[in-house]
Amino acid sequence: MPFLFRNLTLQPGEDEGRLIALTAKFFGFDPAVLQQFRILRKGVDARKKPRVLLVYTVSFSLADEAGFWKRHQGTPNLEQLPVETPQIFTKRSSTDPIVIVGMGPAGLFCALRLAAYGIAATILERGKPVEERVKDVARFWRDGQLDTESNVQFGEGGAGTFSDGKLTCRLRDPNTGWVLDQLIRFGAPPEIRYQAKPHVGTDRLRSVVAALRAGLLESGADIRFSTCLTDLVCNSGQLSAVRSNGQDELPCKHLVLAIGHSARDTYAMLSRQNLVMEPKPFAIGLRVEHPQGVIDRIQYGKPHPALPKADYALTYNNDLTKRSCYSFCMCPGGLVVASSSEAEMVVVNGMSNLGRDSGLANSALVVNVRPEDFDGSDPLAGVRFQQQWERTAFTAGGGNYHAPAQNLLAFIGQGTGSYHSSYRPGTVEADLATLLPEYVSTTLREGIVSFDRKMKGFVTREATLTGVETRTSAPLRILRGEDFQSPTLRGLYPCGEGAGYAGGIMSAALDGVRVADKIAEQMS
Ligand code: FAD
Repeated sequence: MPFLFRNLTLQPGEDEGRLIALTAKFFGFDPAVLQQFRILRKGVDARKKPRVLLVYTVSFSLADEAGFWKRHQGTPNLEQLPVETPQIFTKRSSTDPIVIVGMGPAGLFCALRLAAYGIAATILERGKPVEERVKDVARFWRDGQLDTESNVQFGEGGAGTFSDGKLTCRLRDPNTGWVLDQLIRFGAPPEIRYQAKPHVGTDRLRSVVAALRAGLLESGADIRFSTCLTDLVCNSGQLSAVRSNGQDELPCKHLVLAIGHSARDTYAMLSRQNLVMEPKPFAIGLRVEHPQGVIDRIQYGKPHPALPKADYALTYNNDLTKRSCYSFCMCPGGLVVASSSEAEMVVVNGMSNLGRDSGLANSALVVNVRPEDFDGSDPLAGVRFQQQWERTAFTAGGGNYHAPAQNLLAFIGQGTGSYHSSYRPGTVEADLATLLPEYVSTTLREGIVSFDRKMKGFVTREATLTGVETRTSAPLRILRGEDFQSPTLRGLYPCGEGAGYAGGIMSAALDGVRVADKIAEQMS
């Protein structure tokens, strides 16, 4: 059985090869006796800045394991590591037609997992293959010409394709390793297996997505682009077929609905079909952008080229109003991006390349909103709430997908300054507080001021806010039972972020895997 050893540290820039010598010296053995040595985790410890260290967890094995354990059992930070047994997938032979809607992380990983069981699904994606999608998005960012079916939210790879590709996930899920291994198999950097904060970057993600498609086609999947699910055909509470693009009908026994949080027309269709759904809380706000150097200096004291671009995670709670302001989807070395999917609405988000080399750091700063804040209590009330503020931002930006922006000091009423947003196609200076509900603007101001106490220098003339950030998570939940099926429509499996069961690339992918396992279980 191999061993795990935590808390080995190196100075930034030191050769990682030294980890072997450090381990051998600590335990007093000759490095030549090592049979295997691997980095399991790598993180940054900036608690004693400016002395910032890289912290490692490693695994190793040697010939005389019993003797080693006898001598060192009880040593702090040393554990025996269970041997990973490869997962075995028993092949299924059912011919039940399975349709997956959506090629975001949830749909893609559901399809991949089904393929592991030998089950080939038909996958419907309203958007285009990633190569064409990239061109449509580039046109939108350059000229403000939005394609409502091919954009940052819709198309192969889903919402995460134009992202920072952060793969952090709060869930402790036994399938995390499997998902990471699949990403590596299709071209993600192998370091994601051990980085404390793994990320792939939008540039690398695009090629991973294309390779993943090739893998699915090879395993027999039928992939249909520019094919939008527009209706369900049901018989006595059992799904029997799906309709796409308003006409084509496809028999379907199991439908995995992995539509993401922006398919508002599909939500409306599901509501007309009386699927049980309920509005849920989410968060809205603005995106803040600093020079990356400012954040590196605050977090590390003395930045070093061998350290990753610094990030942050901040929260502020107002106990009286029960509102919180928090940073979300922080993108070091990234850009603020236009993320609209509906005409005449402005939405911002953030992305970065693998190298995180834009010189700018951005993050959403958002405030929680609840169903009581929405106008109406029907399942679509949260969608209308988002649309209201996205439309307001569109108008404030001048009606051409330019976004409203403002210097951070001006927003919190502590001065003035110019604004520099990386958002394209462009920005217009505006009083951002008037473009959000009053309780959101107030909590944002309180939050920003409190963040400066935690990160001295966060409030600076050099920071810019751009709005609005409204698509932090789904505004509703599509209910599902223990068998992962809708309680009112057998055969329909709500899945991923759009159904309210995930938030982020990894958790959406893991939910896709869970749904696939449930379907396979029913076929066994
Ligand atoms: P989605 O990825 O939204 O995929 C849904 C798919 O369904 C889309 O491709 C859509 O076209 C398709 N679809 C919708 N309706 C239909 C229909 N009726 N018929 C056919 N197809 C349909 N998360 C992170 O963890 N890390 C990050 O760094 C990160 N950065 C982000 C940056 C940006 C700019 C954005 C927009 C999001 C980011 N996210 C990030 C969030 C992450 O992308 C989502 O959480 C994740 O993609 C959700 O996965 P999903 O599969 O549930 O849905």
